[in-house]
Amino acid sequence: MSLSQLARSICESPTLKLNETAALLKDKGEPVIHLGGGEPKSKAPIDAIVSCCSLLQTGDVKYTPADGIPSLKKAIIRYTEEHYDRLAAPENVIASSGAKQSLMVLLHAILDPKEEVIFPAPYWVSYPEMVKLAGGVPIPVTARDGGFEPTVEEMAEAVGPYTKAMVLNSPNNPSGVVYSDGFIAGVVELCEKRNLYLVMDDTYNRLIFDGRTPTNCYRFAQVHHLDSSKLVVINCVSKMYAMTGFRIGWAIGARDLIRAMTNIQSQQTSGPAAPSQWAAAGALNGVQSSIESLRLTLENNRNVMMTRLAAFNGVKVVKPGGTFYCFPDFSACERDSQKLSRLLLDKVRVVTVPGREFGMEGHLRLSFCGTVKDITEGIDRIKWALDPGAPNELYLGDRKLVRDWR
Ligand code: PMP
Repeated sequence: MSLSQLARSICESPTLKLNETAALLKDKGEPVIHLGGGEPKSKAPIDAIVSCCSLLQTGDVKYTPADGIPSLKKAIIRYTEEHYDRLAAPENVIASSGAKQSLMVLLHAILDPKEEVIFPAPYWVSYPEMVKLAGGVPIPVTARDGGFEPTVEEMAEAVGPYTKAMVLNSPNNPSGVVYSDGFIAGVVELCEKRNLYLVMDDTYNRLIFDGRTPTNCYRFAQVHHLDSSKLVVINCVSKMYAMTGFRIGWAIGARDLIRAMTNIQSQQTSGPAAPSQWAAAGALNGVQSSIESLRLTLENNRNVMMTRLAAFNGVKVVKPGGTFYCFPDFSACERDSQKLSRLLLDKVRVVTVPGREFGMEGHLRLSFCGTVKDITEGIDRIKWALDPGAPNELYLGDRKLVRDWR
């Protein structure tokens, strides 16, 4: 079959693929524990459902403006004022089908062929592929100290004549690390000085632990007016309201940029699905308690995961400050993260995501968005599979496993 060079250069999303594999195994009755997931278990807020149903009941479900319905944009403007202390005009806002689409139309709007986009490693799996889809070149920056936050100098060293933008995702998928204020302030300053776009992917901005307050990148900017700024902030209802399936995200940026993004989106998909936009507006305007209860659940799950991992000889883990992921270093057990992830799925039916997909070998991404039981049992199974000192047998339900590989 003749496929384009672009199509041949793009990899399948490994996380979505793992979801499929886990679902297939579960359907076959396999006792799978999914520590690879990327979505909270809780339900969408009732205000989202009521708002969505009120549209559906009219039966009048039609195209919407390409950049979103006015009531959703109004709710996003209010959210931006409350959480970022920035007054956005409707022209500074675009609602898309998920943060993913906001990012994608943004990259299409700013990149010329071969222009470069810099982001720290480990990075969200989709950044390199999205940059390539938009014709650009992804440039990951790995901290020389082996940690999860490079220095501002390391980011600056990656800047060259073709650099167009930087992307920061904090708290970070996959490491759960909340970047320090010093790092974010430094990157904001660097991008302003070098006239680069800075994309803040704030998907997990509110899901933070240990009494932290959400980071507001605008605080560090010298350019205050949105229309003169190259800072673009991406958000979505997907994680904070547990509404992944609704597919609503948004971007805040300069009006010329948002207009260009809207033109692209209007040709690509038109406006996001109307019922989803009504649902997102309902969530943003409604009672906000679900975010705090999700945050508390995740913080508790994070603590359970850390306690369990602490009992794991040789595995190094940095305590996540937010998100629902951690990114332990398993290289003492096995350096090849794909091989390790495969072994854990094949032998003990635990789904994990190989660190290689996030630009860091030797690590696995483990999610703690499931139940406490899944976390404890999942880590116990991993420990059993990898610890030569563990007893030779393990029961998964009534199935007896005998370890014959270590
Ligand atoms: N950015 C990051 C860092 C993410 O982890 C995700 C989802 N996994 C997204 C963006 C995309 O969010 P959405 O589901 O709203 O497209």
